[in-house]
Amino acid sequence: MTRKIDILDTTLRDGEQSPGCSMSPQEKTIVARELIRLGVDVIEAGFPVSSPNDFRAVSEVGSIAGDKAIVAAFSRAIEKDIDCAAEALKTAARPRIITGIGVSPTHMSDKLHMSEDEVVECTTKAVAHAKSLVDDVEFYAEDAGRADADFLVRVVQAAVDAGATVINIPDTTGFCLPEEYGALIAAVAECVKGIDDVKLAVHAHNDLGLATALALAGVRSGATQVECTINGLGERAGNTALEEIVMAIRMHGDELDAHTDIVTSELTRASRLVSRITGMSVQANKAIVGANAFAHSSGIHQDGVLKSRSTYEIIDPAEVGASGSDIILSARSGHAALRHRLQELGYTFEDQEFEGIYERFLEIADQKKEVYDEDLESIVQEFQRDVSAIYTLKALQIQCGDPLVPTAVATIIDENGETHVVSTTGTGPVDAAYKAIDKVVGIESDLQEFAVKAITRGIDAIGEVTVRITAQDGRVYNGRGADNDIIVSSAKAYINAVNRMIEASRARG
Ligand SMILES: [Zn+2]
Repeated sequence: MTRKIDILDTTLRDGEQSPGCSMSPQEKTIVARELIRLGVDVIEAGFPVSSPNDFRAVSEVGSIAGDKAIVAAFSRAIEKDIDCAAEALKTAARPRIITGIGVSPTHMSDKLHMSEDEVVECTTKAVAHAKSLVDDVEFYAEDAGRADADFLVRVVQAAVDAGATVINIPDTTGFCLPEEYGALIAAVAECVKGIDDVKLAVHAHNDLGLATALALAGVRSGATQVECTINGLGERAGNTALEEIVMAIRMHGDELDAHTDIVTSELTRASRLVSRITGMSVQANKAIVGANAFAHSSGIHQDGVLKSRSTYEIIDPAEVGASGSDIILSARSGHAALRHRLQELGYTFEDQEFEGIYERFLEIADQKKEVYDEDLESIVQEFQRDVSAIYTLKALQIQCGDPLVPTAVATIIDENGETHVVSTTGTGPVDAAYKAIDKVVGIESDLQEFAVKAITRGIDAIGEVTVRITAQDGRVYNGRGADNDIIVSSAKAYINAVNRMIEASRARG
């Protein structure tokens, strides 16, 4: 049997640090359910001391994970961070505190203003304190990729001596070459006493497009935990993509002496879900989960694949769940069929909530006859967005055409249940609708990006709109909306982004 490599997914912590990708506690639990279906070993659910919402998210993920996954909370090597992480993890059956400190020259002198000795002392204190609160403690040596190897060994030794159960050697800035990084991991594996009794982890960033190569180099050098995110989401250029590292280990398990327990047929679904929730599209030529990952357009390639798939394709699309969903429901499907399918997708609802979803399902089924899993996911997310929203779009009427002046009449309900009806004109139907929303909300923002996509096949597919807005303080927010009518989708997406902007500013107080 090859070595089991643990997969720590940090989509909910490192991933959501991508500009515009912050998730509400409710959205995090939806992603966490998918991570459980994927079979990840550890879910890093958030950074509890950073905000009340993150605290709640960690607690909620802890309560749904049960014994199916370790739930981890991030902290700095500061007592109040660690206490807060422990508190948020009280709901978890298998809690892990992650704590750590910068170890590179620039982190120590420019950020921490600490000497080497002080960093070692701080490490010992933080790990020992975390260990007094939970059994499972992961220590990260931030910016290890640019650290002095001898000093790194010294810090890691202190963490191991203080009781750390996992040691993470991150290339926080995505600076290393894979062989250098591998050598660093090997140095720690060789020189630290007692390292055989702890798990060695790799965590790489994609600033040079090397994140997956770095993680693989680490695995080759003895790491048995890889930290990664769905779609490679994360700070700046992102993290190691879960789908890439998992499939690379799967294709080369014998050479690497490694395997993971990930259910690969869930990879495509997980990718789409995270993209939909964060509003961050996946590039078409993205490995494993991009729309073109299994598309062949040159005649020579098509001919080859038709004769034998293996001529130009190393992965069977079905292995990663990319073979497309089957038609599953129609307007004739009753309550029981819908409830059953939603359960299979991981959603359960109280009766009253379910009625709302069923009604929306019937509307969609009437319009487009065939309802796919993707449509169902979109209905559920739409519904959940509406429930927790500050502003919701009740109705939208648009007049446009040539030579008409585009005019929108929007009915918007605020969180107090008050109805606002506004009418505006614009340069086009979307502009008119957005101006109507602005009138009600009364907060200025700048529209940066606007994209329309069909969720499923066919001309009658649900059109999904993604927008990106910048608030006056420069922060970025994504929003999504789905409907058969793309102008309505556009308005919903904009309201969604505005709601996130308001929620975030309230959470900051
Ligand atoms: Zn990171």
